[in-house]
Amino acid sequence: MTRAYNFAPGPAALPESVLKQAQADMLEWGDAGASIVEMSHRGPEFMEVATRAEADLRTLLGVPDDYAVLFMAGGATTAQALLPLNFASDGDTVDYVVTGHWGKTALRQLTPAVRINIAASGEEGGYRSIPARESWQLTPGAAYVHVTANETIHGVEYRPAWGAVPPDTGDVPLFADFSSSIASEPIDISRYGVIYAGAQKNLGPVGISVVIVRRDLLARAGQPRADIFNYSSHLANGSMLNTPPTWNWYVAGLVFRWMLDEGGTAEFDRRSDEKSALLYGAIDGSGGFYRNEVDPAVRSRMNVPFFLADDTRNAAFLEGAREAGLIGLKGHRVLGGMRASIYNAMPVEGVRALVAYMQDFQKRNG
Ligand SMILES: *Cc1c(COP(=O)(O)O)cnc(C)c1O
Repeated sequence: MTRAYNFAPGPAALPESVLKQAQADMLEWGDAGASIVEMSHRGPEFMEVATRAEADLRTLLGVPDDYAVLFMAGGATTAQALLPLNFASDGDTVDYVVTGHWGKTALRQLTPAVRINIAASGEEGGYRSIPARESWQLTPGAAYVHVTANETIHGVEYRPAWGAVPPDTGDVPLFADFSSSIASEPIDISRYGVIYAGAQKNLGPVGISVVIVRRDLLARAGQPRADIFNYSSHLANGSMLNTPPTWNWYVAGLVFRWMLDEGGTAEFDRRSDEKSALLYGAIDGSGGFYRNEVDPAVRSRMNVPFFLADDTRNAAFLEGAREAGLIGLKGHRVLGGMRASIYNAMPVEGVRALVAYMQDFQKRNG
């Protein structure tokens, strides 16, 4: 068996050592007589797994004590729907900055009880840049400002032009969808009200998401909602208000540990610079054979969409890539072309192999 270099956007590649550990643990957990997926979430074995995962994630991301960490069933889209329910009251205005597909998806999760203000949008320019902060029409007294830290499909990220630090939104808390870039660099959590991420890009398997919330915001009334949609209830119950996705939580915990062992977010920041520079360098240096259309100032280090000048060769490109052990490169249907997702689990060797293949393909077809 040979594992390919997997550039899939999500669910995405997991570190091989994590998969091997999960494989070894699958049949029996220690000498418990059963797998971790077959045991009660309230038993001592899983409680230890859960507690350790949270502690490791807090260390990895430098989560301050005045922030709660929730492990929630469901994806980032579920979190998008729960934000207004938990943090905006009837009639409140919520500000959204839309920089791509996922920012737009977030808008569709809002309830009629809130007033939506699209403070800025990159839609007119095809989401190839991020509207300058000076152009944002923020609402004084809004419940929150929502941004997408990295747009997974359009390949747009608030960096390097914006730095790792997000835009200043004054007294209004900043909520950020970090699904596809969490843990790829050190960030200052205290600048945010809420950070959330579905696990399947940079943190683990699909089916669980992480929500990091400034605790004082949980005291806000929010809108009438079922208890299961109430973040405060989840926090009061240690993210075990109902049965949590135990397997996903356990595997995510292995990924957190792996990231710490590899050197933490500072190391992934360094690797992300290296990997993305290699790939954009190859695209920009191809004399137009390949192209990326995003403003270089906000190009994503995680998701690199690119196009062939002659798109009748797309199928041949993908077929040859597969033969070279490179998979998951087909672009999202919204954009077409190719996309290489190079999250934390993608080693620099994988990007080197991709670049070598791209150059070879160009030689044979240029
Ligand atoms: C993948 C993704 C989502 C959607 O996640 P689901 O888990 O499928 O709901 C939302 N936002 C961003 C930035 C994403 O990359």
